[in-house]
Amino acid sequence: MLVIEDEPGIVDFLRRGLQAQGYAVESALDGLDGERRALGGGFDVVVLDLMLPGRSGLEVLASLRRARPALPVIVLTARGEVEDRVAGLDAGAVDYLVKPFAMAELVARMRAQLRSIAEASSTTLSGAGLDVDLLTREVRRDGEPVALSTTEFELLVFLLRHHGQVLTREQILSSVWGYAHDPATNVVDVYIGYLRRKLARADGSTPIVTVRSVGYRLGGAEE
Ligand code: CA
Repeated sequence: MLVIEDEPGIVDFLRRGLQAQGYAVESALDGLDGERRALGGGFDVVVLDLMLPGRSGLEVLASLRRARPALPVIVLTARGEVEDRVAGLDAGAVDYLVKPFAMAELVARMRAQLRSIAEASSTTLSGAGLDVDLLTREVRRDGEPVALSTTEFELLVFLLRHHGQVLTREQILSSVWGYAHDPATNVVDVYIGYLRRKLARADGSTPIVTVRSVGYRLGGAEE
């Protein structure tokens, strides 16, 4: 992995902690060097500080997103610094940690990122009593087949890939429908409704949870 961070104390902390977990760690002390090395390839995760000399972390991030969209990047920010900008830049695709953070938290985030890459290359998805085969497009709920339309299927796949995470309507809209819809559209709610009816169990329970004034989540308890 590559650590792009200009504070030697933090680089040292990361290097020692990550090496103790068995990761090979390289570091770059400014944005230009970091960007060049990250684009050069050979890393499965990049840990990126935002306040960097040479080239800012946000510029490096934008360039990595263009050139290597599948490369996981974990952004480090100072408390209250640019959290909103990071969230707005690429909602859902960028994980970030606020300094000071615990090594265990960083390692957990990195494992989650690497796991989701492994899942992305798998041909089946499971969670919340559901099994989806991405090749045959078969869907099973508690082992029983469920017939879905193409859009319902794509929506379910997106929810399953983010099993347990709260997803906003905007995230669902841009990922499933793929283009900038009128944000006032209720197409997400309509299709969530269709999917819920098809996935409901005999007792009426459904794996799709409404998170009030935010969006939806697959799995977990009602709120
Ligand atoms: Ca810095």
